Amino acid sequence: MPEAPIFVVQLHDARRLHYDVRLEVDGVLKSWAVPRGPSLDPSVKRLAVPTDDHSIEYAGYEGVIADSKYGSGAVIVWDAGTYTNLTLDKSRRLIEPAQAIERGHLKFSLHGTKLTGAWAFTRTERDWLLVKVRDAAADADVDLTAEEPQSVLSGLTIEEMAATRPSA
Ligand code: MN
Repeated sequence: MPEAPIFVVQLHDARRLHYDVRLEVDGVLKSWAVPRGPSLDPSVKRLAVPTDDHSIEYAGYEGVIADSKYGSGAVIVWDAGTYTNLTLDKSRRLIEPAQAIERGHLKFSLHGTKLTGAWAFTRTERDWLLVKVRDAAADADVDLTAEEPQSVLSGLTIEEMAATRPSA
């Protein structure tokens, strides 16, 4: 049986603080930068800007990217786990994530430490949006980014990680 594809959300204190939401698709991490991070409130649409694919190994990275390098600044693994693709076409057949991204709509269920339930990335004219799908895991009253700021790997906050030495 194939293993479930992974996802990771890395909080990255680069020039502007943002959350990198990455989903394993066909052997790489498809990536979106979400400045304000995921919201559990289904009425909130979060801007998600597509960024470069990353290698699967990068999902485990946290540390401080040196000043001389692209994306310099602290990174923590804010959440991680696996996901299930839920994207259906018009005839309600499951379509593959790569094709779903090409078509501009990817619905998936997250099995993380912090994030659970169904979510969707949807392409708009200019960018993409990340939205929580209405389900039992939705909650308009909880701001996870504020309440659970720490890494699921090290327990460090982004400020604590920034205070450590660059990992070169
Ligand atoms: Mn980033």
